[in-house]
Amino acid sequence: MNTPPEMTAPPEIAGVAPAPAPAVAVELRHLSHRYGEVLAVDDVSLDIIEGEFLTLLGPSGSGKSTLLMMIAGFLAPTSGHILMSGRDIGAIPPYRREMGMVFQNYALFPHMTVAANIGYPLRLRKLPRAEIRRRVDEALDMVGLGGLGGRTPRQLSGGQQQRVALARAFVFEPKVLLMDEPLGALDKKLRQQMQVELKRIHRQLGVTVVYVTHDQEEALTMSDRIVVMRTGRLEQVGPPAEVYNAPRSAFAADFLGDSNLVTGRCVERAGELVRIAVGDDRSLWAAGGCAVDATVTVSIRPEQLHIAPAGGAAADALNRWPGTITDKVYLGDAVRYRVDTGGTFLLAKRQEGGATRQLDVGAGVELTWPPERATVLEAP
Ligand code: ADP
Repeated sequence: MNTPPEMTAPPEIAGVAPAPAPAVAVELRHLSHRYGEVLAVDDVSLDIIEGEFLTLLGPSGSGKSTLLMMIAGFLAPTSGHILMSGRDIGAIPPYRREMGMVFQNYALFPHMTVAANIGYPLRLRKLPRAEIRRRVDEALDMVGLGGLGGRTPRQLSGGQQQRVALARAFVFEPKVLLMDEPLGALDKKLRQQMQVELKRIHRQLGVTVVYVTHDQEEALTMSDRIVVMRTGRLEQVGPPAEVYNAPRSAFAADFLGDSNLVTGRCVERAGELVRIAVGDDRSLWAAGGCAVDATVTVSIRPEQLHIAPAGGAAADALNRWPGTITDKVYLGDAVRYRVDTGGTFLLAKRQEGGATRQLDVGAGVELTWPPERATVLEAP
């Protein structure tokens, strides 16, 4: 086993003031909600940053909607506080919180035209008619429905109806847009198209978005930060790449896609890296901390494992495990191999095409991976 390269700290930059703390749009402080016996949201504290696209991601029942409904003001917290600009908004009703809301079922008024639906929040706020017309037209253009203001919702497709709901949510220039699985009712292709449009609209408006989904791909592609939720608590909060590449728990690793979880004993620490003994004759280097002799689990994403024919891997790789392919699955643009590395089975995903030739089941291979792409998970 090679030793890790020396870790050097980044040089200090003299005379540069630290960046100012980002402005907080909404502050959640020790927020809980209980439905009878069920503690749906359990002591959640979080700063939602102005202008960010924040996604609440978690399985069904993890408390995402309950948390969103409390922010919107439709549900009162059992305990805890919600602050905007430092002010507790607990006593402020939903329609005065300056938050737009989009649900999965579009909740449009069926008897009103599209323009009247979008203009509704502006009429509530008693804006002059000419101003309403101008803003509705702008909103229609923004969601790509210019010219369709005279139709009723029934004369629109599902995707178009959701655009109307979106326009109605942002037309009054709310500080925060709350969206609960807004694309959940659309088919995959339309959903992906709407994801791109939602991101564009978020950029153009510069509004703070809190977005609920159970779809990890959607969360990874759209968010500035992801909040992974589990049974009412925040499991992990961070930018998509961080949550994906450095999950803190087996739950987060597993929920954000396939992951190899390897358990072993911590035997050595060197800078930011640790060496984990797996079984009697293998060890691996990973990023993170652990006490020597502690039993730990390491997460490695399948696409971080480089698979090469036996003898074909870089000789100086810090992590190099031989193995045998036991299965392979063709995924369209990639192939996922299952490799037996002496009792530990690992999944390795490789893009195929061009010069790379598919490897066969039964073939002897070598797996290599950078230590910083293997993450030691926190103990559960
Ligand atoms: P998610 O949005 O992540 O699917 P929810 O916030 O809807 O989760 O639900 C969190 C938990 O609260 C679940 O256990 C759910 O069964 C429960 N729950 C949600 N709404 C109610 C309700 N109106 N009455 C009782 N229990 C509820």
